[in-house]
Amino acid sequence: MSKEYYVNALRESKFKITPQRLQVIKYVNGKTPGHFTAEDVYLSVKKIEPTVTLATIYNILKAMKDAGTINSFEANGTTWFETNHEFHGNFICRNCGEIVDVPVNRNLLNDLNSMEGFSVEDVSLVISGTCEKCSKAKTPQL
Ligand SMILES: [Zn+2]
Ligand SMILES: [Zn+2]
Repeated sequence: MSKEYYVNALRESKFKITPQRLQVIKYVNGKTPGHFTAEDVYLSVKKIEPTVTLATIYNILKAMKDAGTINSFEANGTTWFETNHEFHGNFICRNCGEIVDVPVNRNLLNDLNSMEGFSVEDVSLVISGTCEKCSKAKTPQL
């Protein structure tokens, strides 16, 4: 993805690209792949655009989500955003808090879609456990 991709998607949904919004786009574009919260974006953008508010950040992230350019999911009581559109699971390490994308069999989606009378619109898979790094650190090295 490029910065233009996000700018164009927002323009199409009639969102004006202000300097503050452009900084948010730059942040998001630089976070591919990766996971971030509205607070992460706020703290970073505030350095360049000191008058930006957290509410502005939330609004633009919501607009970007509505435009289909970013996804969000809930984990650890926080809303996380990401640019990865592939069907995947988000593995959260209980020890270090790191979020890692893990592959998930697409058949799961097919199974969900085959439920009679239901229509699946959004799936978010959050998996928690211990990441590779932390597992290794716990195991004494011989
Ligand atoms: Zn970890
Ligand atoms: Zn992810």
